Amino acid sequence: MKYVDEFRDGELAKTIAANIAREAAPSRDYRLMEFCGGHTHAISRYGIADLLPPNVRMIHGPGCPVCVLPIGRVDQAIRLAREYNAILCTYADTMRVPASDSLSLMRAKARGADVRMVYSTQDALKIARDNPEREVVFLAIGFETTTPPTAVAVKQAAAEGLKNFSILCDHVLTPAAMHAILAVEQGSVPLDGFVGPAHVSTVIGSKPYEPFADDYHKPVVIAGFEPLDVMQAILMLIRQVNDGRAAVENEFTRAVTREGNLKAQQIVDDVFELRDDFEWRGLGTVPTSALKLRPEYAAFDAEQKFAVDYVAVPDNKACECGAILRGEKRPQDCKIFGTACTPDNPVGSCMVSSEGACAAHYTYGRFREIPVVAEATC
Ligand code: SF4
Repeated sequence: MKYVDEFRDGELAKTIAANIAREAAPSRDYRLMEFCGGHTHAISRYGIADLLPPNVRMIHGPGCPVCVLPIGRVDQAIRLAREYNAILCTYADTMRVPASDSLSLMRAKARGADVRMVYSTQDALKIARDNPEREVVFLAIGFETTTPPTAVAVKQAAAEGLKNFSILCDHVLTPAAMHAILAVEQGSVPLDGFVGPAHVSTVIGSKPYEPFADDYHKPVVIAGFEPLDVMQAILMLIRQVNDGRAAVENEFTRAVTREGNLKAQQIVDDVFELRDDFEWRGLGTVPTSALKLRPEYAAFDAEQKFAVDYVAVPDNKACECGAILRGEKRPQDCKIFGTACTPDNPVGSCMVSSEGACAAHYTYGRFREIPVVAEATC
């Protein structure tokens, strides 16, 4: 298949792995963060970490949209469905994110709330058109990739005069999270560079990453989601580190430009503006890191339409999602990883989505020790 098979070629992977092993200086460590959950998934699925020398370590970042959604935001959505009898629509993964009182949207649905999984914002609009007597709320989550479709839906609802449709806006911003990670890093997580997001970058372009190279002296290499994309990006980062350079480089040139998708950016800018601050799971409250609807679209803002103030709720005490999302710990550092917490019964958000670090590690068995096979003696 064009654009897939050639990026999964095992022989080419061995060649890139050999180049990485040759060029990574044994005298130092390379700590590289893959920001995006799609890359975390690819690294686990294709065993990329196993192809790297021990001094090249991949650190998972906070770029899984479901993982960074704090409990209080899911609680708001559940309240809309239970207290206001709204039809609550959202994407599949969001349904299983643990909330307060041992609930999730899925469990609230099992107890009678009208929660519906949708594949797109258009599905949610259709539900609103088909149920004019009911309030329909779309729980809008995600980074810059999923924001344009939400903006389009709000514009459509406004154009149609759809009065029973609104969104609970939890859209968040990648560069702000990277700034927050680097603020954490001053204290505890030294990083040598970032593998930059793929899909997000098709929308925002490579330009917003330039401050990380210019101001923080951290190399960024934007990479596609296929295994050879990720490996090539790792090699490009190692070369920058070895040269003492910090630049934004683009491995994913087949989809990403410096300027990004200007039309999508314009639609988002028409509909949304920056929130003053937003609480992230793991990163705490981060200024100007999320979006809210502009005043002219206030009629479609569920937070203004219904009395569901955000209340911060601490994570389960046993859960290490926060530290994992900050790059401080690995999934297997959590005491309940793979025991009390599994993809079938997630205790924390990182075990919910296939992009979550814990779910990816668990699904592909990357946490298991490789058995030592004793050499035969005679
Ligand atoms: S294993 Fe479960 S509880 Fe532990 S950090 Fe991961 S998601 Fe949280």
